[in-house]
Amino acid sequence: MMKFKDISYVRPTVEEVNAARSEQLEKFKSATTLDACICIYAEIEDYTYDVIYTMWNLAYIRHSMDTTDAFYAVEMDYWNEAGPEMGLLEAEITKALMQSPFRAALEKAWGSLIFLNEEINLKTFNEEIAEDLKEENRLSSDYVTLMSSAQIEFNGKIHTLAELEPYYENPDREVRIAAHKADRTWKIEKAEEIERIFDQLIKVRAIIAKKLGHKNFVKTGYYRMQRNCYDKEMVTQFRDGILKHIVPIVTQLKEEQKSRIGVDRIKPYDDKVMFLDGNASPTGTPEEIFTNAKKMFHEMSDSTAEVWNFMQDYDFFDVMTRPGKAEGGYLSILSAYRAPFIFANFTGTALDIDGMLTHEFGHAWAYYLAKDIFPRKLQDASAETREVHAITMEFLAWNWMADFFGDEREKYYYTHLANHLSWLPYEAMVDEFQQYIYEEPEMTPKQRNQLWLGLQEKYCPWLDVTDVPFDEDGCHWQQILHIFTIPFYYINYALAGIVALSFWAESRQNFTATWKKYEKFTRLAGTKNFVELLEDADMPSPFVANNLKLVADEVKMFLANSSLTNLK
Ligand code: ZN
Repeated sequence: MMKFKDISYVRPTVEEVNAARSEQLEKFKSATTLDACICIYAEIEDYTYDVIYTMWNLAYIRHSMDTTDAFYAVEMDYWNEAGPEMGLLEAEITKALMQSPFRAALEKAWGSLIFLNEEINLKTFNEEIAEDLKEENRLSSDYVTLMSSAQIEFNGKIHTLAELEPYYENPDREVRIAAHKADRTWKIEKAEEIERIFDQLIKVRAIIAKKLGHKNFVKTGYYRMQRNCYDKEMVTQFRDGILKHIVPIVTQLKEEQKSRIGVDRIKPYDDKVMFLDGNASPTGTPEEIFTNAKKMFHEMSDSTAEVWNFMQDYDFFDVMTRPGKAEGGYLSILSAYRAPFIFANFTGTALDIDGMLTHEFGHAWAYYLAKDIFPRKLQDASAETREVHAITMEFLAWNWMADFFGDEREKYYYTHLANHLSWLPYEAMVDEFQQYIYEEPEMTPKQRNQLWLGLQEKYCPWLDVTDVPFDEDGCHWQQILHIFTIPFYYINYALAGIVALSFWAESRQNFTATWKKYEKFTRLAGTKNFVELLEDADMPSPFVANNLKLVADEVKMFLANSSLTNLK
């Protein structure tokens, strides 16, 4: 095994991939026994995961580590084009699997979920949309590159967007206002460009939906998210539940926050300040954070210790913020090495711990637990399940937070929980926004901004955007990466967020039992659908509105009993 930096990238060409796949397809079709059929399918998966996906992800990771690196910029352009061109034979292989004479026996061996998922996958691709997919890839790449190009002068230094984040937690309102203004000035300058990119994205997605025979892109987006056990109506009800049970509590918390931090109205630049004497922020250097993380994951369980050691020994992390690095954080997989990779942007705030370290490690650990499941497709749980893995890890890591926050750990608990609750309406809002814009792709940029403002009043009634340029004009959504790159992803966070809160509430009663349950849930990966996994673990379903109320009440009680509720 070698360190991440020593892994060499070799571009698999479209010709090579298609030739290999044609051969695999023929072998699969001509298999005369069940064993032969399974054996060839394993070969097909090994090639797809260990050659194609590994190189694709490697290019993606290295490009996001430095978006100014010309070599990997070219490679990403290549993959944006090559991906759809490789899609055709991939779909042919899927069709061959669906029509296999051994299908009944395969379903018996593997379960029927993989066939249901593949049926859904087939609805997201046909030959006619290959060119449109390339266009869509290009546009979302343009957005990522544009946002990571930010070089904002503030406080005598040049900042990336992520580097401005800590200022929004500064107890001095003047500092926050100034930092926020610097950020918004840059985004207003880019607004026209962002709107152009998005307008073209909406158009090309509408074309894709039409060519696939879907009513609109909402349908396509749901299929892409591989939603195999709930539909748009259930999501609508879930959002209503958030509106009914979560928004009132968050509104109350925001009232308390206002008096605690001494402001009349919560402006966008006040939202993140929880305490006037400063939010809880992790102590120590990034090196010390890593030392504490190692201790935490070693104490947590054998499997977490094993993954952590692996990732640390081979440098499968990039967490420091620097110019040219892409925004945000993610977990990627290099299957050829059975290795998860954590990409993050540390900013010195509490988000480094829960938004980056424990969250992304939750994803990494989940991959590691599932890496030997066959067929490998069943290793990939659907997105809301994967987010349960990650967000629950954030909460079950609470026992170790004294190491990261010292005396400020009570503040940390309060903030983590209160923020988590206030993101639920935000996530529902982002989802509803996307639903409407794809239902009406003819909307003008201005209408979209108006739509956003209306939804903001509904889901975040405490927020006051008057006299705040950019936000006042309804442009806030333009900074949300997922809207551009993975449509309809956001509601996964909210669904998972509710389940994670249930795990959190149980862990307050009995940590060891909850950990066992969580590990069992995670080990099942994608072998069952989301609803079945919840039933299996005896966890409350977020699709039942009353469950939202129950969990929200638990959170409310914890926060009300916190000694910090009215602390200045
Ligand atoms: Zn995640």
